[in-house]
Amino acid sequence: MGRRKLVVGNWKMNGLRSQLDEVEAIGRVAGDHPAVEVGLCVPATLIDRASGKAGGAFIGAQDCHGARTGAHTGCLSAEMVREAGASWVIVGHSERRTDQHESSADVAAKALAAHGAGLKVILCLGETLDTRDSGKAIDFVLEQLDQSLPEGAAADWLAIAYEPIWAIGTGRIPTMEQIEDMHEAIREALRAALGGAQGDAMRVLYGGSVNAGNAAEIFALPDVDGGLVGGASLKAESFGPIIAAAD
Ligand code: PEP
Repeated sequence: MGRRKLVVGNWKMNGLRSQLDEVEAIGRVAGDHPAVEVGLCVPATLIDRASGKAGGAFIGAQDCHGARTGAHTGCLSAEMVREAGASWVIVGHSERRTDQHESSADVAAKALAAHGAGLKVILCLGETLDTRDSGKAIDFVLEQLDQSLPEGAAADWLAIAYEPIWAIGTGRIPTMEQIEDMHEAIREALRAALGGAQGDAMRVLYGGSVNAGNAAEIFALPDVDGGLVGGASLKAESFGPIIAAAD
């Protein structure tokens, strides 16, 4: 199929200038694994400086607004984070869907704005534990995908990240079978929505408590094309083996 593995760190609200050495160290590991596309989505305040130190990794943002400009105090447009040095942006992370009450329509607008500004996009989806326990996880995630997928979505600028909310930062992950079932369902939905060629080419990442111990097994699943990694991406020591596992 030829989908290049994509491994992206999400630093969330962590990172001061004093952590730029870690960016540099992660960039060196990325340089040692050119078969893997590696990125770090740092806080917006670090994008500018980090992009000069990231070596073999790209720097991304964690969010952008859906509008190009306007009266949106405290928000950043896609063009702003692009100008600062980001080449990718995460949209629809569950923490933003929950904390900032972002709807799937908001997420689709952000993805479209990002693409318009020349950014590549990681679009996050994922169910709560209640939804998983009710047996409706796949239906829920496919509906979220349907409502969040921007118009004109294409594999050369968009990747999907499946992140069960109950696995984020908890150390708990779904079974390999649950991950594969979800990724297969997402792949089929992408094929139906975008056509076979685009659906096959689009990368679908897994996120939620990926670490050095479980990364190789997760990344070996047929429809898993890499990972979105939170806590373990903060240090080269813990992120490096995850990058290596994808190689
Ligand atoms: C995330 O928030 O995107 C994430 C996957 O976090 P963690 O790896 O810490 O579970």
